Amino acid sequence: MSSNNNSIKMRLLWENGKRCAICGKKIRSFDELTVDHIVPRSKGGKHTIGNCQLAHKSCNSLKNDKMPEEYERALKYNKRRIILMRVRRGILFWYN
Ligand SMILES: [Zn+2]
Repeated sequence: MSSNNNSIKMRLLWENGKRCAICGKKIRSFDELTVDHIVPRSKGGKHTIGNCQLAHKSCNSLKNDKMPEEYERALKYNKRRIILMRVRRGILFWYN
């Protein structure tokens, strides 16, 4: 089986459902869905099923190319930003 981006995405969808591995919330549309590398590719992470997880595009761009532990640290400083983002998303949800 080839390990191109789409087959990894489909396998993750099949195994985990449409849930964001970063914020833990459901991913409501396919447009929001992206494959995040747990160890960023820029830090030597491989594009394999074990190093990939599904995430919202917005969550993934917050995580950027941080290592998981760096991200945890950044999260503490970023919490307000993330709460704001969730509030905004919640508002968008209610207006839909
Ligand atoms: Zn998310």
